[in-house]
Amino acid sequence: MSTEIVINQVNMRFGKGDKAVTALSDINLDIPSGEIVSLLGPSGCGKSTLLRLIADLLEPSAGKIEVENESPRQARLQRKFGIIFQQPTLLEWRNVVDNVSLPLEFTGHSRKERKQIAMEQLRMVGLEKFAGHYPWQLSGGMQQRVAIARALTFNPPMLLMDEPFSALDEFTKERLHLEVIRIQEQTRKTVVFVTHSIPEAVFLSNRVIVLSAHPGKVKHNLSIELPGKRDLQIREHPAFFEYTTKVRSCFGEGAYDEDLLV
Ligand code: ADP
Ligand code: MG
Repeated sequence: MSTEIVINQVNMRFGKGDKAVTALSDINLDIPSGEIVSLLGPSGCGKSTLLRLIADLLEPSAGKIEVENESPRQARLQRKFGIIFQQPTLLEWRNVVDNVSLPLEFTGHSRKERKQIAMEQLRMVGLEKFAGHYPWQLSGGMQQRVAIARALTFNPPMLLMDEPFSALDEFTKERLHLEVIRIQEQTRKTVVFVTHSIPEAVFLSNRVIVLSAHPGKVKHNLSIELPGKRDLQIREHPAFFEYTTKVRSCFGEGAYDEDLLV
């Protein structure tokens, strides 16, 4: 299995002097290609910071990150990843297809090409019938699927997802988990998925990276091998409970400190 993202001795500090916060300390990590890898940890442990470093939205204070053997900057400029955040951040005055095709407006694609590509990605998330709808006509889950379609516009080899379903109800969340698994199986993209939910991480991932807080460090790197297909039934399987228990035990007592419960 080739390696997509290599993180080498990365440190991230915010601020200076007394007010400095070490968000990440000595992070070493290889993220293989074609897998779903979760970054899991309590609030404030540096998950979003790590994802932003990979995405070139931040620069590390020390250490090095390589994305497909290049710097995050080069990877970003070549549109190697699509990013999905907790909020779909759609433009209210644009319909669904025009939201999805937005990134293509800066790259010289013709109107016809833009529409064709956007429709392809809407088909990928099962929303082609809603192309003419406006964001406010869609449920939260559908809006997030539009955001996924938008992240797919350049057909990037990587998807970076930062707690994309945290604001959604359980039922919608479960459907979207299946959607992510299906899209990943169909496209073989590398998915880096940030979450603070243990069952979500275990259900989705081939690998779970457990982070601890203050400062953020990699505590464990666990391969998840569930027997059989990842469908809703697998959550009833003893192996699923074994993994969630194992992951939970990685955090130890410290994870339940009051200041970490947000
Ligand atoms: P998580 O996503 O795991 O909840 P974050 O990566 O957002 O954690 O934050 C990790 C730590 O870095 C926290 O202590 C947070 O307050 C701090 N931090 C994050 N971004 C900034 C910033 N732009 N300026 C100062 N501190 C920050
Ligand atoms: Mg975060």
